[in-house]
Amino acid sequence: MPTHILGFPRIGAKRELKTALEAFWKGDLPAQELASTAQSLRRAHWAQQRTLDMVSVGDFSLYDHVLDMSFTLGNIPSRATASPGSELDAYFRIARGRSAADRSKDGVNAGEMTKWLDTNYHYIVPEFTKDTTFSLNADRLLDQLAEAHKDGRQAKPVIIGPVTYLWLGKAKDDSDKSKLLPRLVPVYEQLLNALHKAGAQWVQIDEPILVTELDASWRAMLEATYNRLASSPVKSLLATYFGTLEENLDFALGLPTNGIHIDAVRGRSEVPQIVDALPGDKVLSLGVIDGRNIWKSDLTALLDWLEPLATQLGDRLWLAPSCSLLHVPVDVELEDAMDAEIRSWLAFATQKLDELRILDIALTQGRDAVSTDLADNARAIHSRQTSTRVHNPTVKERVRAITTEMGRRNSPYNERRNRQKDALNLPLYPTTTIGSFPQTKDIRAARLRFRKGELDTKAYTEQMRHQIETVVAEQEKLGLDVLVHGEPERNDMVEYFGTHLEGYAFSAYGWVQSYGSRCVKPPIIFGDVSRPGPITVKWSTFAQSLTEKPMKGMLTGPVTLLNWSFVRNDQPRAQSCRQLSLAMRDEVLDLEKAGIHVIQIDEAALREGLPLRKSQWSDYLDWAVASYRITANGVQDVTQIHTHMCYSEFNDIIAAIADMDADVITIETSRSDMELLDVFDDFSYPNEIGPGVYDIHSPNIPSVDSIVDLMRKAAQRIPAERLWVNPDCGLKTRAWPETLASLENMVTAAKQLRGQ
Ligand code: GLN
Ligand code: ZN
Repeated sequence: MPTHILGFPRIGAKRELKTALEAFWKGDLPAQELASTAQSLRRAHWAQQRTLDMVSVGDFSLYDHVLDMSFTLGNIPSRATASPGSELDAYFRIARGRSAADRSKDGVNAGEMTKWLDTNYHYIVPEFTKDTTFSLNADRLLDQLAEAHKDGRQAKPVIIGPVTYLWLGKAKDDSDKSKLLPRLVPVYEQLLNALHKAGAQWVQIDEPILVTELDASWRAMLEATYNRLASSPVKSLLATYFGTLEENLDFALGLPTNGIHIDAVRGRSEVPQIVDALPGDKVLSLGVIDGRNIWKSDLTALLDWLEPLATQLGDRLWLAPSCSLLHVPVDVELEDAMDAEIRSWLAFATQKLDELRILDIALTQGRDAVSTDLADNARAIHSRQTSTRVHNPTVKERVRAITTEMGRRNSPYNERRNRQKDALNLPLYPTTTIGSFPQTKDIRAARLRFRKGELDTKAYTEQMRHQIETVVAEQEKLGLDVLVHGEPERNDMVEYFGTHLEGYAFSAYGWVQSYGSRCVKPPIIFGDVSRPGPITVKWSTFAQSLTEKPMKGMLTGPVTLLNWSFVRNDQPRAQSCRQLSLAMRDEVLDLEKAGIHVIQIDEAALREGLPLRKSQWSDYLDWAVASYRITANGVQDVTQIHTHMCYSEFNDIIAAIADMDADVITIETSRSDMELLDVFDDFSYPNEIGPGVYDIHSPNIPSVDSIVDLMRKAAQRIPAERLWVNPDCGLKTRAWPETLASLENMVTAAKQLRGQ
């Protein structure tokens, strides 16, 4: 029974890659040492995969595997190589706007980032123009393949398929990117040849677009591509994941590849049909272990299902996780502080490899050969199913009692607007920030010491208050209009709320890469969720006491709490979301009662929860927007509700966004040069908008002119009276000097705009 994985987390169990990268960017680590950290991570990951029949190569990346692919294909924006430096310098220029070689100068525009399909992983969008050409640079892959061979591993290179690669990218000149396919496929042909020559037997070619609705032209592109690649000497495993194939099923099976991988967690219902339609010479790789969640698999149930399939397909059946393990943390064994019962329900990447091993042995040698493992697994599954900690009747009852009325403001926006205007007294082009301010070492150290019990509540509170004082004073000095307290008490916008809610569990090392060196540690929703008491009120009221200006309360919305947590798989996501919406509604109303009249409810992750198939969107949006409304809309008219969204390309969902009825929405736009605002050409968004004018994902400081320019572009689409001026996201990852300089430019720009 061949076993494999589609990819392994690259950041390291203790985020070793993050540490090395950040030291390298700062100039504290030579390039060679970065390379050797990367190499030892790869080797360690391969060693962990030793029980598999082949290890994955090419899944490791210093920043992003899509950007890697762009470099492999020679599709490198010219601004990356315009100034001197190594290939690595060029790489980081596109990744993050500057390289080690640029430390003393300004950088370049970083590549646009967007979410990888329906995950919270961000990739760097490939850039195309009608003149784009491709040329092979296979060094990275070949070197890593050689490394794996040297370690004595059977290795399977992993690459993004040409059609998905085009689909992920963006034509900067609005040309038709599909026209590039004939130039692209020959380079893939060379790549496959090179990998074959280097000893690869199989290559995994990811075409996850096969789980989306494809029009005829995309299908034609896939067909042309794989017909051409069919003559390659290396065997191809076409990999799909994150959903069902549906109307693409026969089409995908008919493409001339040597095997196909499907997501048999989300797409389990299709497996019988796939097995029936599978061409006799094709391998079927079933992704039976959930690569998107952290629960143990029910191995006995899986075996009941897989045994007949194994008999039927013989060695044409391969086993794998559903998708790359990039989306789960590395090792649950590190979690010694976690509640032992809850921990016993979990499987991170390392444990998922072990589940694969157990399945493999059970299917080839019989269940007896792994009886202890199976018994342990059955015990954990049973314990989770029956635990009283999972079910809370009061919460279930409150959810049943939700009414539509609870999600409605008292008056329409136009009336609220006047009341809020009188109360808040804001200028035209009001300025604000998205919530967090730089999280310095001191802040992080204080939080850590508090968590470890080395700092008592009083001392901790004092330190946080001191930080809030600084942040408020700086904002006053800058002349911002709506202030924030800076969120020093939050390590993470989801984890922070999770720790104050019942039904949530936390890991210490459960990091998942979000982009580049940035990781998130999604909390785990294991049971019914409720709020034992106020969470943010004391911080926000303290901050408000320091200023005459409006202080914006800052919360994470229910949909984002859900989408950025590992969720229960024993009830629908919609149900978990409703529970969260009630808990956060209580917090909103408590803030209002405490005198906070501007409240931002971040829904940074609303969009990424969209199903990959459009046919399922309205169902998701219905419950997601309804949940947000339950949280936000119980307030009085004078209370101004803001919401914030990151990377929101919401052309297709703008009606749902408007339906949330937030008074103000702040969004990401700066990396895309306000293109994201095109949507407002056709849809007149009724409320206020703050298009982000400061790219906080880059250390570069936006000039006054560039901000004025961006805002002018915005004002072409949205009336100036309804525009806000703000960064495109929170500032917590930035350092103070660049933050102050950027915000100063932002305030100056707003003043200029008002003058005009
Ligand atoms: N309020 C959060 C912050 O400023 C929002 C972050 C986000 O949208 N990702 O950090
Ligand atoms: Zn954001």
